Amino acid sequence: MTPRACGFLAAAALVLAATAATLFVSFAPLGSTKEDAEIPAVLRAEASTEMADAPASAVLDSRSGGGIASSWRPLPEDTAPWIEVRSLAPLVVRAVAVRLANGDPSSLRLAFDGGSALAPTEVSARDAIFVLDSERSVARWRLKGAVAVSRIEPLVGRPTVVVLDRDGGGDALLEILRGYGVPAAWMPALTQTMGDWLPEDTWVALSAESPSPQLIAALLDFVKMGGGLLETSSASPVCAPPSVRVDNLRSARLEGPAFDEPIAYPGALADETPCQRCTDRRVLLEDEAQRPALIFYRVGEGRCLRFLGDLVDGVRRMRQGNPALADRDMNEKGGIQPSDLFVGQIRPADFARPHADLLVESVLAALRLPFRLHPLPANAPGLTIFTADQDYVPEAGVEAQIEDGAPEALTLLLTDARFGGKPDVDFGAEHPATLSARWASVRADDGVELGIHPNLQGIEPSAYAAVLRDQANAFEREYGKRAVTVRNHHLAWQGYTQMAEHQARAAFRMNLDFMALSFLGEGKLGYLNGSGLPLRFIRVDGTVLPIWQQGTQVDDHVLLPPRFGYEAMNVDGLIAETQKLMDRSLADPPHPITINHHPVWRYETDGRWQRALLEASRSRAMPIWGAERWLDHQRAMRDTQIARLGPGKLSVTTGGSGVALLLPEKAEVRADGRRLEASEIQIAGRLWARVELPPSKPVVIEWAQ
Ligand SMILES: [Zn+2]
Repeated sequence: MTPRACGFLAAAALVLAATAATLFVSFAPLGSTKEDAEIPAVLRAEASTEMADAPASAVLDSRSGGGIASSWRPLPEDTAPWIEVRSLAPLVVRAVAVRLANGDPSSLRLAFDGGSALAPTEVSARDAIFVLDSERSVARWRLKGAVAVSRIEPLVGRPTVVVLDRDGGGDALLEILRGYGVPAAWMPALTQTMGDWLPEDTWVALSAESPSPQLIAALLDFVKMGGGLLETSSASPVCAPPSVRVDNLRSARLEGPAFDEPIAYPGALADETPCQRCTDRRVLLEDEAQRPALIFYRVGEGRCLRFLGDLVDGVRRMRQGNPALADRDMNEKGGIQPSDLFVGQIRPADFARPHADLLVESVLAALRLPFRLHPLPANAPGLTIFTADQDYVPEAGVEAQIEDGAPEALTLLLTDARFGGKPDVDFGAEHPATLSARWASVRADDGVELGIHPNLQGIEPSAYAAVLRDQANAFEREYGKRAVTVRNHHLAWQGYTQMAEHQARAAFRMNLDFMALSFLGEGKLGYLNGSGLPLRFIRVDGTVLPIWQQGTQVDDHVLLPPRFGYEAMNVDGLIAETQKLMDRSLADPPHPITINHHPVWRYETDGRWQRALLEASRSRAMPIWGAERWLDHQRAMRDTQIARLGPGKLSVTTGGSGVALLLPEKAEVRADGRRLEASEIQIAGRLWARVELPPSKPVVIEWAQ
């Protein structure tokens, strides 16, 4: 990165730091020296000549997941600067959607590659959309207007799924789709021309908002002509008149054809109302009382898919628990922890399966997408994410763990006083780091990543944010980089997502606190948050936070004696349970498994569990990664841009190495004419051909069956 652009981003980060309201719209790396890491692999924004002369006032956020989002705040004395957005590889663009923080959207102008400025095709109160006459390959575009922009997103190529988002409620739905590998596009709900230029096999996805009569009419026209409509909430019916919500909240068990096991859903399902316009109806999922939960309808030439619950709310509750239980020690064990948010919600059998993933994949299966991405690294049947909480073990103990069985990678979460410990109890703050910067750099070559393991016990909750920030800064001073991963000692939690917000402000990007604890009688190892995959935290108001939640399925706390309140296991029992959960992670739908090991236990068990879990991973051909590498891979998947060029033909720009593209079963796949090796992967009962995207940018992928 050039020094100018670097300074530009740093200054922009300061602008954002002082503007709390936009903090989570655009998450600049606050105080970070790692701007590069925050910029997507395929897209970068740089100040144009005009911008360089103006006060730095724009920042590119990068991690909106898939597209581009930008926050642009013209300073008062500069009423009409340009912002230039530049991609590292040309993108096939059909439209550009812009959401404003303030200002008049009709004043916006857009210019491509130095061409003349275009006026928006459509505007509403906060949104402008520029629709081109035809698809164009674009490497740079510039926006001008006396406005503040909160979001810019190109609609690349012909999207397969578009999330209509009038009021910001679509962000969470977009997060879920992209996290599972669906390259969905964001679009404000502008109604006039949408049906004219969206391909007719596109799915338009609606989140829980009430569509206006005009929008309903436009969507129905789109469907009748052959489009698809995914209603993710019974609160936004289009294909059938409004249904009556059932008030009694119940945990339904959905029974579906995609998986041969029930899927839990912790919410209310509405009763189906008849669809007068529909010519065909099929129930794809039903609850345990055999009432429909997911229904497919044919309307005219098109398709409607109705989920009779609320997909975003359901997935959020399955992954993050019940917001009504926030800040309460529900299970009266271990203080306030994430597990308190799930009390009464998970049946014991559900700990044994990724129930949130099963629900999302069931809905995605119904879309019969022609292609998608997959979060696992290409060619790997699964993945072991290996972490360890240091818990005050000195260097020799850590060394012993790293040597034992020679793990390929390990994320070590530190408990030094300055970055992890609690100064009044643990080593004094003046105590030198147990693991020096030199040690860290040598061990990085062995796959050892460092994060922190803060001890917040006994600290006033009002001080959590400051302690985390201080510890993150101390870590950076010691090791010369920001800590990305964090898991709290004793899994201390606050609010519904408040702890995650503190962590995000301290520039942590992956949270590992949602660990399945084997409490006697009400918990088990396995899927506390119903998932092996990371998604960014979703607040109750639907805002998406810039920090990923990665659940931890296996931990060695079960080796503690029964008086600690856990269902105790011996080492052999823990080895067997670990193997069982690994085997489940390889089954449909395949996903990573996250394991946490305490170095202190290595002494108790003579390292037997660690060696066994490493051997179990290797014998199953599961790579062993640290959590930070896994996060980088997840970002690479989301940064991958796909444009449809025609039947069986895509232009793809990968966001990083090892990203997996899924194409129809038995497809023969070529990349720029060269044959790609495909492996088979089964998701929700459907077989896909999986290929690794080549690093060249962009590449034309063609396939035939
Ligand atoms: Zn700990």
